[in-house]
Amino acid sequence: MANENCLFCRMASGEIAVEKVAENQQAFAIRDINPRAPVHLLVIPKRHVDDARLLEWGDKDLLAGVFALATDAATAEGLKEAGYRLAFNVGEAAGMTISHLHLHLVGGRKLGPEG
Ligand SMILES: [Zn+2]
Repeated sequence: MANENCLFCRMASGEIAVEKVAENQQAFAIRDINPRAPVHLLVIPKRHVDDARLLEWGDKDLLAGVFALATDAATAEGLKEAGYRLAFNVGEAAGMTISHLHLHLVGGRKLGPEG
């Protein structure tokens, strides 16, 4: 369910204006405000899910939309051939700072195992 205190839900609804670099029915993509590489996007499902621990079989369309948008965004950023990283942080120990599922898309340089 949408959470009125959730930053990403408020972006999804349009309550908070944000530049969406890509969007489909299930998700939208924005640039990370603290990029760790030349390209660092967040692919965010429009429907609120706290984190990947709560995903269920019924979320398969949402996830398909998230991954399809990640591919579209990577292609638009010119990363499709060279490759890039897709990562979900799950919970506080992983450094997840906003409790709304989001996929990091990182690329544009050679990435090491820790980023
Ligand atoms: Zn949310």
